[in-house]
Amino acid sequence: MFLPSVYPQYACALKEKGADIKVMMFPDDTRTRQDQPIEEIFEETGINGTQLDRFSIKFMYNKLRGDFAKVPWRKMICNNQGAPKWIFITYLAVHGKLYTRDRLLKWGIIDDAECAMCGLETESTDHLCFKCPLSAGIWGQLLQWQGYSRPVLAWKDEQEWQRLYANGKNSKDEMYRVTLTGCIYMLWHERNCRIFQQKMRTVNVLTTMIILKVICRETMKPKLTSRVMHLNTYL
Ligand SMILES: [Zn+2]
Repeated sequence: MFLPSVYPQYACALKEKGADIKVMMFPDDTRTRQDQPIEEIFEETGINGTQLDRFSIKFMYNKLRGDFAKVPWRKMICNNQGAPKWIFITYLAVHGKLYTRDRLLKWGIIDDAECAMCGLETESTDHLCFKCPLSAGIWGQLLQWQGYSRPVLAWKDEQEWQRLYANGKNSKDEMYRVTLTGCIYMLWHERNCRIFQQKMRTVNVLTTMIILKVICRETMKPKLTSRVMHLNTYL
């Protein structure tokens, strides 16, 4: 058996706890491996037998699991320093799963799919991010605040731009991703306020609210504090 051959002391401890070592190590393989040479098993998983001293559980796990294509939105969603509710709403927006009025109309729940923020077009994820004049105005100001001099793009293009130019681990890129998720959340919040509470806020008020919320999040992360110091709190 693989694990007892390499780490007999760990195998004994796991057995005492009732762990099934064979199933744990090789969940997809029901064959017994008791007589299989260790080098052969390593060869199957792509590890050279001479590298026993540098055995890595992470490497072995990845080999057993196989390779998967990385999704383009992973850096926007995973390890984002924004509030969990911001990330959740952005995740729904990325997948087109927000309950926007065009979907509700399609399901026969409402009769009118007009955007609650501008009243000009049908409300959809693409319209909400960032074709709507209100959302384009907010995101444009937030881009300017962060020091980006580029026009506001359509939602798919914004995601692609983030993947290409704001995908790093530096504070500027991380802050960009936090601000983007904060903006998406606040747009959805504003849309709900207008529909269910008949409350309206202006572009400037919403932008300032997002900036303050982002700064609040950033100051909790020492790595991002330096980035905040370079930006004005207000527009
Ligand atoms: Zn609109």
